[in-house]
Amino acid sequence: MHYVVITGGVISGLGKGTITSSLGHLLKSHGLSVTALKIDPYLNYDAGTMNPYQHGEVFVLDDGSEVDLDLGNYERFIGSDLAGDNNITTGKVYKEVIEKERRGEYLGSTVQIIPHITNEIKRRIRMVTSKGAYDVVLIEVGGTVGDIESMPFLEALRQLNREEPPGSVIFGHVTLVPEIGAMNEQKTKPTQHSVKALREIGIQPDILFCRSKDPLSLETRKRIALFTDVPLDGIASVSDAPNAYLVPDLMEKQGIVDFIIGRFKLGCKEYNDDWGNYKENLKNPRERVKIALVGKYTELQDAYMSHKEAFLHVTGNTGIAVDIKWINSDDLKASTDRLDDVHGILVPGGFGYRGIEGKIAAARYAREHNIPFLGICLGFQVAVIEFARNVLGFQDANSTEFDSKTQHPVIDLLPEQNGVKDMGGTMRLGSKKVLVKPDTLAFSIYQKGEIYERHRHRYEVNPSYIDQFAKAGLIFSGTDDEGIRMEIAEFRDNENMIASQYHSEFKSRPLNPSKIHQHLVLRALQHMQEAMEAAA
Ligand code: GLN
Repeated sequence: MHYVVITGGVISGLGKGTITSSLGHLLKSHGLSVTALKIDPYLNYDAGTMNPYQHGEVFVLDDGSEVDLDLGNYERFIGSDLAGDNNITTGKVYKEVIEKERRGEYLGSTVQIIPHITNEIKRRIRMVTSKGAYDVVLIEVGGTVGDIESMPFLEALRQLNREEPPGSVIFGHVTLVPEIGAMNEQKTKPTQHSVKALREIGIQPDILFCRSKDPLSLETRKRIALFTDVPLDGIASVSDAPNAYLVPDLMEKQGIVDFIIGRFKLGCKEYNDDWGNYKENLKNPRERVKIALVGKYTELQDAYMSHKEAFLHVTGNTGIAVDIKWINSDDLKASTDRLDDVHGILVPGGFGYRGIEGKIAAARYAREHNIPFLGICLGFQVAVIEFARNVLGFQDANSTEFDSKTQHPVIDLLPEQNGVKDMGGTMRLGSKKVLVKPDTLAFSIYQKGEIYERHRHRYEVNPSYIDQFAKAGLIFSGTDDEGIRMEIAEFRDNENMIASQYHSEFKSRPLNPSKIHQHLVLRALQHMQEAMEAAA
C-alpha cells in the first residue's frame, strides 16, 4: 500500500481538498487505483450536526453518512463512491477508545493519546485501505499544521511512516506564497516557517504544493528548496485557476505524478484524462444563463458546494455556463424584484423556519411567471406548501417543522421519526430507490423507471393530501419503492417546474451531471431565448 498524506500550512482555505482531489484524478487517469480519506480534527462525531454557515455543506454518502464536503470533491474527481469510514474525526476516534476502555479492553492500562489514540487513528486508516486493492491512498488532514487539534493525527501519521515499508509514505504539504509590493515579489518565508513547524513534529515533507496568484518563478522554487530540503522537482506551483476541474492539468504539467510514481516505484499508464471535452466546455461555454440560488446561507457559498459543482458539470456537458445569482431568501419576503432578471430559480435544502417565507415567495414567483424552477429537499417541500396555500387555498398550509399547529400540515414528520430525540445521524439518510412514473416529465428526464438518489430529511409530503394535490395539478411523479413517500413533484400547468425530495446534487459527476439540474439549465436557456424573441 502507498500513502500520500496531505497537510496544510500558513492559513486555512488554501484549497487542500481541491489539491487532494486533483491528485486523485491524476493518479486515476494514469491507470492507478486510488481512494481518499479525510481527517477532520474536530470533536463532532460527524459533520451532520454542523452549521453550514461555519463549515459549509454537509455532504451525504450512499451509506447515509453525513460527512465533510471534501468527500464530495473526492467522489467527483476520483469517480468512485466512498463510505463513512473515509472520514475520520476526533469524535469517532475518542468515542471508540472510550467505549473500549469502558469494556475493560485495555486491561488496566492508563489510556493515553500516545499510543491509544494514535493506534486507533492508524487502525481506522488501515481499515479503509484494507477494503480495496488500492495502489495509492490519499489522506488529507484538515486544519493547519500547528493546530492543537491535529497533533494526535500528525503523530499517528509520523508513526505510520515508520511502521510501513520504507518508501511507501509520501508527505505533501500545501502552503501559501504571497506576492507583495509593486514588483509582486513572491515571498517564501511563510512556507519556510510552515515546513519548520512540520519538521518539529518529525515530518519532513517530500512535496510542497505552493498556492500563489501567479506561477512560481524558478528563483522562488530554488529558494524554497534550499530552506526546506524538498527537491526542486517536488515543489509544485499551484496558481489560481478559474475552477477546480482545471487544477489537475496544472499539476500534471509539472510532473507531480511522475515524481510520486517514481518515489513509490510504481508502474503506470500514460496520462489519459476523459475530461477533454468537458474541460473545453468549461473554458469556452457557448451560452450563459443566470440562475437564482435562493437560500439562507448564501453568504457562505460553500454551504451549497454540490449545487455549484452540479452546475459546472452541466456546463461541461452542454456548453451552457451558469451565472449563479445568490439571493438570501429573507430578501424576497417583501418583494420578489430580485428575481426579475433571472432565467431560472433553484431553492436548495435547508432546516428551520428562518428564510422559509422568502423561499415560498420564490416558488410562487416561478409558478406564476412560468420561470424554470428546481426545488431540492426543503425546496421541494416549499413548492408543495406554496401550491397548497395559493392554489388549493389553504392559507395556513405549512410544514409541521415550522408550525406544529397548522390546520393544513401538508408536510409532516416521517412516521419513523416520531420519538427520535438525538439529532446526529437520525434523519432518513443515504441512497434509496426512487420509482419514476411512466408518461411524466420526470420519466422524460430520467428515461427510466427506477433511480437511486441520496436523501437527508425528517419531513415528507403528508400522504393524506395527495389526491387533492393531484386534482389541482400537482403530481407526484416519483415515490419510494412502497409508493408511500413522495419523491418527485411536477406541475400539470407548469412544465418548467420540478422538485425532488432527494438531493440529486450529491451524485452529480463531471461526466454524469444531475439530470434535474441539467433540465433546469436547459429550460432556463429556452426561457431566455423565448424572452429575447418576444422582445425583438
Ligand atoms: N428540513 C427538511 C426536513 O428535514 C428538509 C431537509 C433538507 O432540505 N435537507 O425534511
